[in-house]
Amino acid sequence: MNSEFKFIQPGEVRVRFAPSPTGFLHIGSARTALFNFLFAKKNNGFFILRIEDTDKERTRLEYEQDIIENLKWLGIEWDEGPDIGGKHGPYRQSQRGEIYEKYLKKLLEEGKAYYCFCSPEELEAERQYLLSIGQPPKYSGKCRNLPKEIVEKYKKERKPFVIRFKVPPKKVWFNDLIRGKIEFDMSLSGDFVIAKGFDSPLYNFACVVDDFEMRISHVIRAEDHISNTPKQILLQEALGFPTPYYAHIPLILGPDRSKLSKRHGATSISEYKKMGYLPEALVNFMALLGWNPGDSREFFSMSSLIKEFSLENVQKSPAVFNIKKLDFLNGFYIRQKPLEKLTELCVFYLIEAGLIKVEFAESQYPPAYGAKEIVPVYKISETGEEINIETIKKIVEIYQQRLKRLSEIVELTDFFFKKELTYEKNLLKWKDMNDEEVLKALDRLENVLHKIKEWDRKKLEETLMEEARKFSEDIGKEAGDRGYLLWPFRVALTGKKASAGPFEIAEILEKEKTILRIKRAKELIKSS
Ligand code: GLU
Repeated sequence: MNSEFKFIQPGEVRVRFAPSPTGFLHIGSARTALFNFLFAKKNNGFFILRIEDTDKERTRLEYEQDIIENLKWLGIEWDEGPDIGGKHGPYRQSQRGEIYEKYLKKLLEEGKAYYCFCSPEELEAERQYLLSIGQPPKYSGKCRNLPKEIVEKYKKERKPFVIRFKVPPKKVWFNDLIRGKIEFDMSLSGDFVIAKGFDSPLYNFACVVDDFEMRISHVIRAEDHISNTPKQILLQEALGFPTPYYAHIPLILGPDRSKLSKRHGATSISEYKKMGYLPEALVNFMALLGWNPGDSREFFSMSSLIKEFSLENVQKSPAVFNIKKLDFLNGFYIRQKPLEKLTELCVFYLIEAGLIKVEFAESQYPPAYGAKEIVPVYKISETGEEINIETIKKIVEIYQQRLKRLSEIVELTDFFFKKELTYEKNLLKWKDMNDEEVLKALDRLENVLHKIKEWDRKKLEETLMEEARKFSEDIGKEAGDRGYLLWPFRVALTGKKASAGPFEIAEILEKEKTILRIKRAKELIKSS
């Protein structure tokens, strides 16, 4: 670290995540935030959230709220930030105008920056000309040495201006902690704009001022900022600031190896949340987008990531986004969830889909002293019938093993909440069964089920497994193929090609509904 970096105690790590609130929190930005957070925690350092809202036109408060809300949801918490303050605030660039103005004036006074009065039309013509002769566009430096009187005159006339930085024509290099030495020849670069006015600083300038003022020791950000780094280093030199360490993390590519974008599907954390991904799964998945533990382990909780994360194990090559991996991890974390918690999460999707509704009522058994409790009461939307949370828990339980996204609970379990199922009658047929044989199976089921007194999955299984074995022989089919009875049974209860097993389902539906569904299946077969 540069020895001028005196305010940083040796070993003191201060990193920042500096999103521009011009869109919802993108999975790539969330990964940048995560890497910064992990690095800070691993090194007992500080993690700062800074909102870079200098682009007044594209900035929206709604986006800032989305960023804050979703970072918190992921479990990425900051030590200083716009919502909680801190020693080096404010943490929104739009509130730091005076600080930027001070440094802009300093650069102007010291002749390291200058007013530029060139009109956009002039600049565009210059650009086009350079392109036409096969040269890269670069500002000519026309206003670099305008006489003082001219500058004063233009200012008096209120001629629009920008402030440009005088780029010294030299080589600039830095030692990227991930990518090694990176060098730029700045003689190829024109004098760039650092502010559009004293109240409108631009990114490179505001970022350098803030990284210094906020005592940032390490800048960890995406690879697409590499080309900004030499500009920022030159500004640091001009302002007498030390240069922090830089670490540029690899880009995230879609499966087709182009930069991850909307074309590849969901990109914002809020979309993933809606689709039913758990924060634990997303954190685990994002950590592996560019970082690896150096071995083949793939399950990492936030606390194990904090222990294991290091910049040395961040790769240089781009990371490829693989949704199957995210599904796989999500399934793993869903299976780990305590049933109670998982049910709570699934209930949200069932309500959203309109299958159940929730009402709030006073508890029937108020505590002996004190206020009555308000408890949620769940009802099946179609029938208005009350459904106990314990029943919903059982429904979730039988799907816990196969859920990959929470939202799938709707499609998988909707038949529990429907008054009548709609399905093709042929779905009731196992192998070569005809209508008559299906009817026989349903009759047999109805009879047997009527007689069952203890209605639980064990008893149902015992009874029906034996019955199914007999049934296949009774109708002259392959002995032991229980599908002739159990397939129509399962389809009658669910209306689906695939589902959980019929005994668990029948237990949850209870006797009356189970038999009713058998009767409906009979009507369906008879009706054609
Ligand atoms: N506001 C910039 C962005 O969102 C931050 C870049 C940086 O970390 O320096 O890309």
